[in-house]
Amino acid sequence: MNLEVPIYDLSLKGGKVLVLDGFRYSIACQSSRKTLWYCNRLADRGCKARISTIEDVVVNCINEHTHPPKQNIYVSDKPVFSVSPRGARIMIMGGYKYTVHIQKGMKTRWFCATHRNHRCNAALYTVEDVVVKYGNQHSHPPLNLSELYRYLYKRL
Ligand SMILES: [Zn+2]
Ligand SMILES: [Zn+2]
Repeated sequence: MNLEVPIYDLSLKGGKVLVLDGFRYSIACQSSRKTLWYCNRLADRGCKARISTIEDVVVNCINEHTHPPKQNIYVSDKPVFSVSPRGARIMIMGGYKYTVHIQKGMKTRWFCATHRNHRCNAALYTVEDVVVKYGNQHSHPPLNLSELYRYLYKRL
């Protein structure tokens, strides 16, 4: 079994969530050391996938899901569009967040939203929401999952 290292995150309600291979799990029961996690889609999709962890290390895993992984979209190369708290359009792709720089007709130039903090010059061009051109490399690592989720709760 070749498993990714799990990532721990918080749910909207503040509960602990385990993210593994693009699937999200929440705590079903917990003893002093061992935690049993059920796939979040147990209720709506009848998914019986489950994971046991001991001190945050996966020790047992039944990962036959009844549905495709979801979380991958946040770090994939497919752009996801959202809006900032101020109502500006933002785009998340490959774990990076972009804001609109120039919009001309159908064509939009986006720059990395962490631009100022990191002096990052990474930019992208989209035409009708499809990425057509990349410019420059990022000077910093991608955002972590909880930062991305914060933006994506307002997903369009
Ligand atoms: Zn599942
Ligand atoms: Zn950047």
